[in-house]
Amino acid sequence: MQETRPDTLWTRTAAAPPTSGSALPEKADTVVIGAGFTGLTAARALAKQGRRVVVLEAGLLGSGASGANAGFLVPNFAKADPATVYSRLGPQKAEGLLRLVGGGADTVFDIIREDGISCDASQNGWLQPAFGEAMAQVLRKRASIWQRLDRPVRFLEPGEIAHETGMDIYSGGIIDESGGTIHPLDYLYGLARTVLREGGLIRENAFVQSCRRGPQGWQVEFTDGSIRADSVVLCTNAFTTGIAGLIGRTGVPLRVYQVATGPIDEETVARISPKRRPVGDTRLNLFTYRLDRDNRLISGGMAVFPFGARERVAKAVVRRLASELKLARHPGIEVAWTGTAIMTPDFLPRIYDLGEGFFGGIGCNGRGIAMTAQLGGLLARAAMGEAPQDMPISFLRQKSLPLHAFAPLVASAALAHARLKDRLTR
Ligand SMILES: Cc1cc2nc3c(=O)[nH]c(=O)nc-3n(C[C@H](O)[C@H](O)[C@H](O)COP(=O)(O)OP(=O)(O)OC[C@H]3O[C@@H](n4cnc5c(N)ncnc54)[C@H](O)[C@@H]3O)c2cc1C
Repeated sequence: MQETRPDTLWTRTAAAPPTSGSALPEKADTVVIGAGFTGLTAARALAKQGRRVVVLEAGLLGSGASGANAGFLVPNFAKADPATVYSRLGPQKAEGLLRLVGGGADTVFDIIREDGISCDASQNGWLQPAFGEAMAQVLRKRASIWQRLDRPVRFLEPGEIAHETGMDIYSGGIIDESGGTIHPLDYLYGLARTVLREGGLIRENAFVQSCRRGPQGWQVEFTDGSIRADSVVLCTNAFTTGIAGLIGRTGVPLRVYQVATGPIDEETVARISPKRRPVGDTRLNLFTYRLDRDNRLISGGMAVFPFGARERVAKAVVRRLASELKLARHPGIEVAWTGTAIMTPDFLPRIYDLGEGFFGGIGCNGRGIAMTAQLGGLLARAAMGEAPQDMPISFLRQKSLPLHAFAPLVASAALAHARLKDRLTR
């Protein structure tokens, strides 16, 4: 949680953030804790339904993963395969969840259009090239599952992927036409503006320590005050201090490093991204890239060892971009930043029933922009009293991961293993 905004591509290029100076009331219908995409989408939905909603944010708008992410809008799971979701949840529950997740990018672009949010939104499709023939077979099957659910997903042959990326190492891939890219911080500010316009209140620098249930509902204690509410929605993602510990310890935190290069020339753009589509391949150590409005390349990576990782990973990410995309000139690092994402043990999103009108949502698993739009909507419905059985995500009782403090070591070991496996596949 910070009092100044971090130096990221997004803080350098975003429009001015909205301000909300109004005093808070003694009581709200719903208090939303955390002003990331999840919290603000929930607050937006509640405010639009005429609920008196107050958002309490420990830092400034964009303090969490929503201000740090790369802006790839991807309406599926990073790690869970749709076929696995069917076998794990059974046909009815799986279909509900898959339709929800598959429609995530459409929901974001609908919100952007409906609210008139200016955030470089481009719904031009998302590409997932297949690394190795075995993965191509998996993607063929994956495309057919999404097609059965009426999603605009197709398998592309190796030549088509080569044309889209300028890379000839792939055995085909899929395109989801509903995916795309946004400027995440401008999107976040746009959501906040809608909440304020609809009569909601947002308080920054309001760290929530605890929520207690009393005879008159929930009493939410924050930095310099306290507010009563009929319902509370906890949207604090990977954070673990104060009230956030309730849900932050249910998943594995992942430190993700992002880089934006200097602008690249039009000729290279035409070769590596003729339709300006974002790309994320199937390697275990993912290779991703997208362009921003000024033709900067944005990519990211993770570190096996956290010490000095920011600079080291930034350099490694740009070296990888230059080598994979066969860039004639090293594009240089314009800005590098980092943030923390969270993975749930089964790689699926979760809603926690924390008791009598108190709900928490988590588990965007790296594909958070699309998923948070859906999760925020469901949390708003829960806060308004809708029954859990009518929702496509099951409500769970909160359960912290045993030895959560050591979870980053598991992530580091998984990354080292992933790199080795990718090398063997190549
Ligand atoms: C570097 C990085 C790159 C990523 N790239 C992508 C991408 O390209 N595409 C994609 O789809 N997903 C991406 N993700 C994932 C995505 O950004 C997240 O899943 C999503 O932003 C989560 O939103 P959220 O609102 O749940 O959480 P957050 O944005 O983390 O918001 C939680 C908020 O809660 C506040 N808070 C915490 N504790 C308290 C407290 N006690 N009291 C009050 N407030 C509190 C925090 O300050 C924070 O603002 C990326 C994540 C990272 C870290």
